[in-house]
Amino acid sequence: MNKSGKIPLFKTNFNTIQKIAPGVFTLTFPRTEDFRPGQMLAITLNKAEDPRLYSIASGNFEKEYRILFDIQSEGFLTPRLAELKSGDTLYISRPFGSFYGGSGLDWWIAAGTGIAPFISMLEVGMAEGKTLIHGGRKLESFYFADAFKLVLKDNYIRCSSVLNEEGIYAGRLTEYLLHIENLPMDINYYICGSSQLVVDVRDLLIKRGVPYNQIIAEIYF
Ligand SMILES: Cc1cc2nc3c(=O)[nH]c(=O)nc-3n(C[C@H](O)[C@H](O)[C@H](O)COP(=O)(O)OP(=O)(O)OC[C@H]3O[C@@H](n4cnc5c(N)ncnc54)[C@H](O)[C@@H]3O)c2cc1C
Repeated sequence: MNKSGKIPLFKTNFNTIQKIAPGVFTLTFPRTEDFRPGQMLAITLNKAEDPRLYSIASGNFEKEYRILFDIQSEGFLTPRLAELKSGDTLYISRPFGSFYGGSGLDWWIAAGTGIAPFISMLEVGMAEGKTLIHGGRKLESFYFADAFKLVLKDNYIRCSSVLNEEGIYAGRLTEYLLHIENLPMDINYYICGSSQLVVDVRDLLIKRGVPYNQIIAEIYF
């Protein structure tokens, strides 16, 4: 942040946009510097407008940053991000944030676009030994499911209160966490998503006996 309290922003040209589900996109643009998986960028289309924050959803060896976003219908930025054409200008910050992830047998918990930092961690090889509890409504809401399944195998658990599909837990991810026997007490839990998700999961884990300092959260507000 500079003296005016604003995050410094740098001009870049956006490269590709890909629709991966209805209203959900990935956007790539040149990577300007190193970052740690779990960090984010502030992004805007115009320096005069307040930027929005996006977790980096790509590995830090790639030439490009990738972000994953969904369109907020009344939103200021995301409907316009979805309309970008290759070569259009973006303004981005330097990577920042401290939702780093660890090297232990951690559990990752995410819903919606909250999966983004875990995609970055997956792509740099940090998924080894991890368990991912992934919440979504429809099959198409489990963004990057194939990549997670390939590496995590049975430790990739999808939860949906709407779907009735083999291999998907029929219930919200909070129900899964509430009912699972032998919830580990000696690992870290990384949660990413809406404030409601983070509060619900954190309260539930604490009630089940997980120490507060083992719960690390990134809230998308
Ligand atoms: C640390 C962090 C990381 C994040 N990472 C991601 C990410 O990886 N991917 C991602 O998709 N998002 C992420 N977000 C959220 C992101 O920063 C934006 O908030 C989001 O994309 C919406 O931006 P927007 O400008 O389109 O919507 P905004 O204009 O900011 O609006 C946000 C919400 O408010 C509603 N709203 C707007 N104006 C009004 C109004 N007048 N009355 C009532 N409701 C209104 C909109 O419908 C929308 O639902 C992150 C947030 C944080 C804090």
